[in-house]
Amino acid sequence: MSAIDTNQFRELLLEERQRVVAALKNLHDDHAGTLTDESGEESAYDNHLADTATDTYDRELDYTLEENSEHVLADIDAALKRIDDGTYGICTNRGEQIPVERLEARPWATLCIDCQRDRERR
Ligand SMILES: [Zn+2]
Repeated sequence: MSAIDTNQFRELLLEERQRVVAALKNLHDDHAGTLTDESGEESAYDNHLADTATDTYDRELDYTLEENSEHVLADIDAALKRIDDGTYGICTNRGEQIPVERLEARPWATLCIDCQRDRERR
């Protein structure tokens, strides 16, 4: 089991946070904006992390809904707090370490994939 480099994830989270804040600002400024125009200019965020499972990533990072962005923002803040607490990367359900690959795709994850699936099934 390799230790998680929390500095790396703190940076990821802070970057992601800036993007979400910017996305929210856009939503507030211009409610006409939609992401149906995927070939347009709204792809500023997708170069960067292109090598992690893009399907999941695109789905989970869907900023089309304002509600969703605010939810992600809260999750990001909670994850930053967990880094400070020293509990980052630990599944909140059963206490096992969340695989680094999952954290790289979704740095604010609080559950391992198994527990997440369990919860979504309910
Ligand atoms: Zn778990």
